Amino acid sequence: MNPTGTTPNPRPRVLAIGGLDPSGGAGLLRDAAELEAAACQALAVATSLTVQDGRTFRRHQPTDPALLAEQLELLAAGPTLAAVKLGMLATAALVDVVADFLRRCAPPIVVLDPVLGASAGGALLDDPGRERLQDALLPTVTVLTPNLPELDRLFGLGAASLPADALEAALEMLRLALPCDLVLKGGHRPAPDRGTDLLVTAEGVTAFPPSRALPGGAHGTGCTFASALTAALARGVELGQAVRYAKGRVEGWIERNAT
Ligand code: PLP
Repeated sequence: MNPTGTTPNPRPRVLAIGGLDPSGGAGLLRDAAELEAAACQALAVATSLTVQDGRTFRRHQPTDPALLAEQLELLAAGPTLAAVKLGMLATAALVDVVADFLRRCAPPIVVLDPVLGASAGGALLDDPGRERLQDALLPTVTVLTPNLPELDRLFGLGAASLPADALEAALEMLRLALPCDLVLKGGHRPAPDRGTDLLVTAEGVTAFPPSRALPGGAHGTGCTFASALTAALARGVELGQAVRYAKGRVEGWIERNAT
């Protein structure tokens, strides 16, 4: 599979850092599936083991920060990473380990899906972790992929109640204050904009409407989008095209998995 036709690196190594969802609906298993589907070599390091089946989320057990640091250190000493995708980070201590790794390793592409909670309930990042994400991690990121609730919890824009024009203006202002580009995933936007993603770069805002009407309720859409986006970027695809590719992958995932 080749998302674009451009293949500067035949099989780029892409590292996913996130939680393990044993049901495979979200987290690292989803990431690995998307990375491999785009002909990347998937590497994965777990920040937490979750107890869930896709409908019910019970609890999770974060990884010992020293263990995570050791795993990352070994990977950093290996062949070059084309990109890193970040999902569930669980605690402030783990956010700091990941930020430290990224500062030292400096991969050219870092996509952060700022996972804060499971759709079935349950916090996937604690409050101190959210602060460290903004202060320590964000400066290492190239593309941030929040949904609407995550955008509001991270930046307090009140975005959920803004009409489309005002939302786009607020995102352009936010982009000026951020060290990275941003894709607002549209799944939580109210009608008529539901499903329309917004790519926000220094050049402005580009809207990506859904290709068709889709049911809601699929688990793992955020992970699918961010890992497909990372895979396309690792293969040398330009950002707008990579968003288009990732959107197509999410639409396919939703159709196969809607509850
Ligand atoms: N990562 C893990 C390990 C999860 O368990 C979840 C949700 O349960 C997520 C990420 C977020 O999933 P989604 O893609 O539905 O936002």
